[in-house]
Amino acid sequence: IIKIMDIPLFNINKEDLISFYIHPDLLYENKRFMVTANPEIVMRTREDKKYKRAIQTADYIIPDGAGIIVASKIMGQPIKERIPGIEMMTHLIEYAEEKGLTCYFLGAKDGVVQKMIYNLKAQYPKIKIAGYNHGYISLDNQEVVNEIKSLRPDLVFVALGFPKQEKWIARHYHEFDKGLFMGVGGSFDIFGG
Ligand code: UDP
Repeated sequence: IIKIMDIPLFNINKEDLISFYIHPDLLYENKRFMVTANPEIVMRTREDKKYKRAIQTADYIIPDGAGIIVASKIMGQPIKERIPGIEMMTHLIEYAEEKGLTCYFLGAKDGVVQKMIYNLKAQYPKIKIAGYNHGYISLDNQEVVNEIKSLRPDLVFVALGFPKQEKWIARHYHEFDKGLFMGVGGSFDIFGG
């Protein structure tokens, strides 16, 4: 763990993170909250204390963005490698397809998330999609939370942009009994393109 501006970053390479933490968590159904911290996210925690507390409740805060790596070097505690959120998401989708794990997608505009689901089914024919919802909901919307609770997906990708996505996860995390929850920013726009 390396702290940058009070944010504890997991100093691990991608292969080890995946094989020693993420895969076992998924197979044992350990509930987890993962943040891919880019410099914008870390900077934002300085001015938004609620956001900082939300981020600090995460199980894994992994360094995304070259700026984080540079900052860690300047501080004399070099972080091993950058782990881009989009790569992590792509890996998780492939792993989910292979292992028959179920995925839920929350975020982006209705048309974008629908297009992403369509594209994913074409690219990963065996993928199990538990459900999806567009991201234009308030932080205390309970319907979507209840739906996810009843579906019990293994993976929940939350693309509400930051800081909303991490605030949403931190606020509702206690209501779920399993799942890997991850904020993925603009990824649905990429997958839905
Ligand atoms: N978004 C959303 N709900 C909101 C605000 C944004 O679902 O209330 C979605 C938006 O449609 C986009 C994604 O969040 O797909 C990321 O938005 P943005 O690029 O602004 O955030 P960043 O990538 O910087 O986190």
